[in-house]
Amino acid sequence: MDLLLDLLNSRPLVDGVERDVLRDPASARRWAREHGGDGGPEELTVLRDARDALTRVARGGADPGVALAPLLDGVHRTPEFTDGRLTWRTVSPPHARLAVEAVLAWAAVEEELPGRLRPCANDACRLFLLDRSRANRARWCSMAVCGNRAKARRHYERTR
Ligand SMILES: [Zn+2]
Repeated sequence: MDLLLDLLNSRPLVDGVERDVLRDPASARRWAREHGGDGGPEELTVLRDARDALTRVARGGADPGVALAPLLDGVHRTPEFTDGRLTWRTVSPPHARLAVEAVLAWAAVEEELPGRLRPCANDACRLFLLDRSRANRARWCSMAVCGNRAKARRHYERTR
């Protein structure tokens, strides 16, 4: 799940300017390695494609079956016995492994927490949040940043 959110949120706006962690090769390589990848150029290309597709899907602007299917090319599962237990191992082309993990994490969220992955309600923010609360009313990527900013704005409008 962290990989999915980290990937979706790797292109934040900082003071209105996009800071894309995956654009600069050195920082992209570092990001991929921190998330268990090899940081090779092929992997980074697939990761950027996966981010674009997942962003469109998470904003409701693309059909998952169309946008995400190409990322699963050549992916399959094989059965394995571990200590007498049957498990399934996902096998993907090595450079696509991280991107595939992100797509599978998205599928797990859709299954287990449907509707809980959403864009931050602050229009000037590009981040996504995953609401795990019982009330399901989280609107901001971060209460400390976007939540307080919205509160301050409402307060200012009320008292003007
Ligand atoms: Zn936000």
